Amino acid sequence: MSEKRGLRPESLAVHAGKRFDPSGALVDPIFQTAPFSFPDTDALAGAAQGRPPDAFYTREGNPTVTSAEKKLAALEGSEDAALFSSGMGAISTAFLAHVKTGDHVVATEDLYGGTLRFFRDVLEPTGVMTTLVKTETQPQFQEAIRRETRWLYVESPTNPLVKIVDLAFVADLARSRGLVAAMDGTFASPILQRPVELGFHLVLHSATKYLNGHADVTAGFAAGSRELLEPIRERRIRTGAILDPFAAFLLTRGMKTLPLRMERQSENALRLAEDLRAHPAIERVHYPGLSSHAGHETARRQMKAFGAMLAFDLRGGLESARRFLSRLTLICLATSLGSVETTADMPWLTSHRHVLPEKKRALGIQEGTIRLSVGAEAFEDLKEDIAGALAP
Ligand code: PLP
Repeated sequence: MSEKRGLRPESLAVHAGKRFDPSGALVDPIFQTAPFSFPDTDALAGAAQGRPPDAFYTREGNPTVTSAEKKLAALEGSEDAALFSSGMGAISTAFLAHVKTGDHVVATEDLYGGTLRFFRDVLEPTGVMTTLVKTETQPQFQEAIRRETRWLYVESPTNPLVKIVDLAFVADLARSRGLVAAMDGTFASPILQRPVELGFHLVLHSATKYLNGHADVTAGFAAGSRELLEPIRERRIRTGAILDPFAAFLLTRGMKTLPLRMERQSENALRLAEDLRAHPAIERVHYPGLSSHAGHETARRQMKAFGAMLAFDLRGGLESARRFLSRLTLICLATSLGSVETTADMPWLTSHRHVLPEKKRALGIQEGTIRLSVGAEAFEDLKEDIAGALAP
């Protein structure tokens, strides 16, 4: 996966992973097939042994999926990457491939709601214990590590309040204690943040979001060393969680514009956050690009831009949130994030609906919290839409 390593991210996004196709097609064809066929039994036996690894049966591998994986590994700066049918497919398969009964995981408490549910409903019944620590308090990490601890797991920026974890600190701590440092990098994408360069062993993403960028694919991936990826790929065969070839094709197409989209969408988000800060209907704006944000300096150090996700707390709680969302005319009320369309959401009712109310409040998520995934529209149009919806 090293063929285009000398190039910069913008060029890698366009070119990395492309196969040579004898037809001369500039764009990779889609290998929309479940099985592969063979000229003779020697070729069949070779493919069954993984030679090549992506032309035997699509649940085990597929050339369209491999192309997308090579692009992802190049962007992430990792030795290898493996694609899954969703972000949760990547997260769950990675954990199940590496942690076993009796192991212990230390994770930050601000995690995507689906990951918290995976810990509670899948890992813990399997006998894997998890300790959740405060996201922005470094000493708690050290104190939570036990003899059985195997993984440190974080998300940065976090969903939905865009808290920032000091990634170099977590990677160094993991290295010094012989642990795996793993994280969910969905909110930043590999364009804004490269955890592998900071010492992370494994980076997981929902590619449904920025990587694809057009809200029409559900996908996820794990990136890291070949040594860590091999058991994950094996487990993927067992769980059947590989991405479909057509979805991999769409993802590859989406990734070509990832750097452009991240730049434009982050710029829109920064301008909106600065604008919303002074609005009387808003109690607080959460955005790492604001100097008032607790993680601002860390984000400045470890991110290329501050990202396109922001949140704000409306005065007046649930009623104000409902009123605001029902009055938007351009911005779509939708779950998910990371697309070119700006979308608004209420984490209280969606991503964190399974978290107890008092726990949500302790994390800082309120009834009136709005999460905004800022898209690529004209800034002025977004500003006008929000101003109209916030008007008295
Ligand atoms: N990680 C984060 C930070 C997310 O926001 C999400 C989904 O919203 C996921 C993981 C899960 O991804 P998927 O919906 O692709 O399974």
